[in-house]
Amino acid sequence: MISFKLSELAVYANYKLLGADREICAVSTDSRNCKDALFVALIGERFDGHDFIEKAIDNGAVAVVSSKVLPENIVNKVPVVLCNDTQKALGYCGYLVRRQSKAKIASLTGSCGKTTVKEFTHSILSLCGKSMCTNGNFNNDIGVPLTLLRLEKDTEFAVIEQGASHLFDIAHTCEFVKADTAIINNVGGAHIEGFGSYDGVYKGKSEILEDVLSRGGMAAVPSDNKYFERWKSDYKSAFASGKLLSFGSHEFDFVRFSNVKNSADGLSFTLTCPNQSFDISMNVMGAHNASNAAAACTLALISGADESKLKEGLLSSGAIKGRLFANTFRNMSVIDDAYNASYNAVIAALDTLNLQTGHKVMIFGDMGELGDAAIELHESVGEHAASKVDELLCVGPLTEHTCKKAGNKAKHFNCHADLVKYARTVINNHPYTSFLVKGSHSMHMEEITKELIALG
Ligand code: ATP
Ligand code: MG
Repeated sequence: MISFKLSELAVYANYKLLGADREICAVSTDSRNCKDALFVALIGERFDGHDFIEKAIDNGAVAVVSSKVLPENIVNKVPVVLCNDTQKALGYCGYLVRRQSKAKIASLTGSCGKTTVKEFTHSILSLCGKSMCTNGNFNNDIGVPLTLLRLEKDTEFAVIEQGASHLFDIAHTCEFVKADTAIINNVGGAHIEGFGSYDGVYKGKSEILEDVLSRGGMAAVPSDNKYFERWKSDYKSAFASGKLLSFGSHEFDFVRFSNVKNSADGLSFTLTCPNQSFDISMNVMGAHNASNAAAACTLALISGADESKLKEGLLSSGAIKGRLFANTFRNMSVIDDAYNASYNAVIAALDTLNLQTGHKVMIFGDMGELGDAAIELHESVGEHAASKVDELLCVGPLTEHTCKKAGNKAKHFNCHADLVKYARTVINNHPYTSFLVKGSHSMHMEEITKELIALG
């Protein structure tokens, strides 16, 4: 980690430093693993890091960030930074590292496809210089600072995923990331409950543009999204000055995808960039990945990537577990898309299932956090599924609405076990079955995937 001093944290965030100043070379939020580190006492739903401060010191913590006044015996042992919010303090630690880094910081948000685009972008940038990115899905107000803390002196590119479920979530993490470049992958039906409405999702995601453009950075938005015209009018001068670009399927896009051929064997398309055009076949499923690839090329290019590395970079990234990940067997395939479910992702996944061979079965669990739009969007999935699948097997109270719209192709089950039992009979009754497993994380659809794979 790039080190910083406790006094820098105290001065930057206006916190009180109790005890001697010292250089910090590691930061930890885990009292079991904090040797030689600054221990930040986070407060979570089920735990309070302040209860573990003594343990952290016993385990080698050299200083502590606390939002509670600590007893003398602790203050006498190690320096303490007293703050009003330890989560925010962790963010500032991330920023103190980030501000010393020479890396180009590329950030991205969107309703779906963030992790996918992050991985694609990282694959490209890794060919252009030393690159790092968010681990897995560490995209919230804890994950983002922890990612920034991993920046090293010689990191040249960093790709940071910023997630959000409420207004100002992005603005909050932007305070620490202060990215040089940004993209919004899309605005769609995810976390509507927290944002209050689609309009709220637009505003929440656009916070990343406000931040990057206000500091002179470059950004891009998707031209195929229904909010494109609104971005064009809300950010007129940024478009006019060339600071805000677009990617998508239009002639005017900075990076354009075309000729998309999505088949059971994979995905091929053409990408047209400012100085070259190339055809590519990627080992991923789902037509939406052509747009994801265009997004990744855009983010990489505005962050300084060499255009000649785009194709090689995309070819070196593959499917990500839980996101339309195909497991193929003699008598069936299981497309594992159980990682998460936003409305747009479900529709995209249905199109992919429709291209598969054999008896096509969608296994669908509730999509969470959709607020007032929940019933309508669950019904809409049913309407789409009716023309795309042979059978629809549902679990969860909201998918009752999906079943009603899908007619006699749909069956509703009370629990995973009943659904899997039925799925077994489907496999036995058809020479080849293609399953798609999809649902919100909270529905634990990955358990169903696991059981199906065991039958393969
Ligand atoms: P999270 O909010 O959980 O971090 P994410 O935005 O990082 O999600 P991914 O993990 O990349 O998104 O993908 C989540 C789901 O969205 C997967 O099912 C994937 O197939 C689907 N998906 C990815 N990109 C798109 C896209 N451009 N349009 C529609 N669906 C997509
Ligand atoms: Mg993600």
